[in-house]
Amino acid sequence: PPPTYDEELVHKTILVGDSGVGKTSLLVQFDQGKFIPGSFSATVGIGFTIWDTAGQERFRSVTHAYYRDAHALLLLYDITSKSSFDNIRAWLTEIHEYAQSNVVIMLLGNKADMSSDRAIRRDEGERLAREYSVPFMETSAKTGVNVDLAFTAVAKELKHRA
Ligand code: GDP
Ligand code: MG
Repeated sequence: PPPTYDEELVHKTILVGDSGVGKTSLLVQFDQGKFIPGSFSATVGIGFTIWDTAGQERFRSVTHAYYRDAHALLLLYDITSKSSFDNIRAWLTEIHEYAQSNVVIMLLGNKADMSSDRAIRRDEGERLAREYSVPFMETSAKTGVNVDLAFTAVAKELKHRA
């Protein structure tokens, strides 16, 4: 049977970051334990719902309302894309402006499987995360490395804060 939970305790988690960093792929990997190139979906996690953007991120028009009722944010860049990493600061500025002050944030450097094309070192990700006091992991939506761990860490933090 599907898991049951008190609706009051359902947490809204949203995926944020530049277009192409792998938000949809990460969600698909988490949901189905498999990687479907170029696919997209929105889905439900265990005890918390996860919202994916349908391409609005391309226009920086992720609405204020979208942030306002989020309990957690997975903020992604692509380790092979310097611009996606540089844009993390802009995303954080927007998040701090529009999200709830107690929102749970985790920074993820995705596409960790593409180490030969790496543009951002792991310690650069760690340093940025430290600067903003948020946890950090490198993930791969392709191989699944750290994907369950990232979502589980967020779910645990939400439960802890509830
Ligand atoms: P979104 O725009 O942030 O939702 O990004 P998508 O999930 O649509 O992914 C953009 C492209 O990157 C697609 O071609 C994916 O197959 C690819 N991709 C996403 N995550 C990974 C990953 O971890 N490793 C590799 N090698 N490719 C990935
Ligand atoms: Mg997408």
